[in-house]
Amino acid sequence: MFRSARQMKFSFAEPSSDISRSNREPSFRQQGSDATFSHWCRKLVRNLGLIDLEKRVAVEWNPRMRSCAGRAFWPSGLIHLNPELSNISESEIKRTLLHELAHLIAYERNPYRAIKSHGLEWQRACKDLGIPDERATHELALPTRSLKRRWKYECPKCGKAFERVRRYKGAVACYECCLKTTGGVFDPIYQLVESPLI
Ligand SMILES: [Zn+2]
Ligand SMILES: [Zn+2]
Repeated sequence: MFRSARQMKFSFAEPSSDISRSNREPSFRQQGSDATFSHWCRKLVRNLGLIDLEKRVAVEWNPRMRSCAGRAFWPSGLIHLNPELSNISESEIKRTLLHELAHLIAYERNPYRAIKSHGLEWQRACKDLGIPDERATHELALPTRSLKRRWKYECPKCGKAFERVRRYKGAVACYECCLKTTGGVFDPIYQLVESPLI
C-alpha cells in the first residue's frame, strides 16, 4: 500500500521525546488536512474537559503560509500549519501545534471576554498542554515578510539618515536638501552617503 510521509508514525504519547526526521522525506510538502494531528489535538482538549472544542478542532497544512509557523481560528477550531515546518523538525511541528492549540483553548474557556492573544489565559493553556515556557513568537528559519535592513543612507549636508532593505542602484541625493535649493532636481552635492549595516 502507498505510504505517504504524512502517514508516517508520530509518537506523541511521550511529550518529551523528539522524533528523528531521518525516516521522513525531506522535500515532501504537506498540504490539506492532517488526520493524525487532528486526532492528537482532539485527545488533548478532551483531556482538559473541553468536549465542545473536541468536536471542532482540526489541523490543516496551508501551503500559502510564509513567515507564520501556525495559525489558530476560533470559534471554528481550525489550526493551520506552515508546511515548511516539516522540513525543520518533528519537535517544531509539535511545539507549533501546541502553541496554536493553546490559543483555541484560551478562547474556548473565555468565549465572552476579550482576552489578549498571548495573555494569561493563553499562558495557562500552555501550562496545561505541558509547554509552560512557550513564547509568543518563534525563532524558526521561515521566510520573513519584514526583511532586515542592510543599508544606511545619510545626507552629507543636513545629516538626515534612513535605512533600507535594498541598495540603491544609482546615485541618490537628499530630496529635502535638493528641494530647498534646486526645486527637487538631483544635485550631487547632496548625494547620500551609503554605508552597510551590520
Ligand atoms: Zn500565538
Ligand atoms: Zn539633506
